[in-house]
Amino acid sequence: MTIFDDAMAAFDRDHLWHPYSAMRGGGGAAAVVAARGVHLELADGRQLVDGMSSWWAAIHGYNHPVLNEALQRQLAQMAHVMFGGLTHPAAVGLGRRLCALLPDGLDRIFFCDSGSVSVEVAVKMALQYWRAKGKPGKTRLLALRHAYHGDTFAAMSVCDPDAGMHRLFRGTLREQLFVRAPRCGGGCDIWAVAELERMLKEHARETAALILEPVVQGAGGMRIYNAAYLRHARELCERHGVLLIFDEIATGFGRTGRMFALEHAGVAPDILCIGKALTGGYMSLAATVAHGEISGTLDGGEPGVLMHGPTFMANPLACAVACASLDLLARGDWRARVAHIESRLAEELAPCRASTSTSMGVRDVRVKGAIGVVELEREVNVAALCRAFIEQGVWIRPFRNLIYLMPPYIIGDAELSQLTAAVRRAVAAPRGGL
Ligand SMILES: *Cc1c(COP(=O)(O)O)cnc(C)c1O
Repeated sequence: MTIFDDAMAAFDRDHLWHPYSAMRGGGGAAAVVAARGVHLELADGRQLVDGMSSWWAAIHGYNHPVLNEALQRQLAQMAHVMFGGLTHPAAVGLGRRLCALLPDGLDRIFFCDSGSVSVEVAVKMALQYWRAKGKPGKTRLLALRHAYHGDTFAAMSVCDPDAGMHRLFRGTLREQLFVRAPRCGGGCDIWAVAELERMLKEHARETAALILEPVVQGAGGMRIYNAAYLRHARELCERHGVLLIFDEIATGFGRTGRMFALEHAGVAPDILCIGKALTGGYMSLAATVAHGEISGTLDGGEPGVLMHGPTFMANPLACAVACASLDLLARGDWRARVAHIESRLAEELAPCRASTSTSMGVRDVRVKGAIGVVELEREVNVAALCRAFIEQGVWIRPFRNLIYLMPPYIIGDAELSQLTAAVRRAVAAPRGGL
């Protein structure tokens, strides 16, 4: 029995930063003392149905016996060992599994600590690549508006320039190039492809890589776009001599209905970033995967090595639990589960569209795989809405004007309906009610 008392709540409020929050942000973080399956257990014993998968990560739910066992087995061998000059079975096992899942040619793997770091590494690979090719002037990156690629400096520089942190860090952030992202839903936007082509043509001499989130732009707006755009991007990058980086940190491992979102388009990037669900939500681990042409060129250039090496690179505990998570996917029926969740989300969130006039103003409802999004006309009061959701026994954390669901794949119909009912109730609440 874990106790979370008032003194702990006070310490949290006074000393612990939470994501994107002020230290004196009013506190009020709900204390979770255990989690099992799709349920989070609060300190007062209440059980919440989890609609977030802890930010795309906990795809198998919490406290999974197979994942627990894999961690314990690895722990009995060793928790960690440096990766400089040493290797271990968990890293090799995970590398083999990833190579089997990824498109042919994408098979040179750099393990790192978090998604943001994997983006830094991808950028570094691209810059070192062009240097080795004798084109050191190709140092800029091209990105999409509404993009989100992480919180470290190179990653921030390719986030949406308006919604991102560009203004705050002007002068320290590298100014990158941006094109408008394709619209949500519908067909492939000719104008978006034309704009991309114009930009690539004009800036090829200085551009190292195009980076984008395939099919679903996540934290930059939960936008879902037509996969055909990716085929154009692949072809245009090829034609103009610009590398293509896919950031599948959010979309990887089944979330969009395919193992990787790139499969919707049948194209492969030169460099791929993965993270989040890689360990089934157990530990922080990410990877940057490059084509052999990239690694070969880096090896042949100056200084002949990739200049990166995190202390906890390929941490054995994280690799072991990632292996177990991928084995669960391989053995399980995630494809059918995600397809089922997709159809239920579409059906049960559709009535939100009717809430336009009376309530919070619904601008759009969209679903892809195990992702359901309700976009509102205006920003919500996140803290108030979270409290209202907790009262209804669900954990849903909106941001800006977006209420979204991405539950663990193991969620049952009854729990999923609890989530969608809570969302429908929230958007039907009178204006100002929440
Ligand atoms: C979350 C996310 C990142 C950053 O990953 P962290 O592990 O939080 O550093 C980068 N890109 C995308 C698309 C993400 O969703």
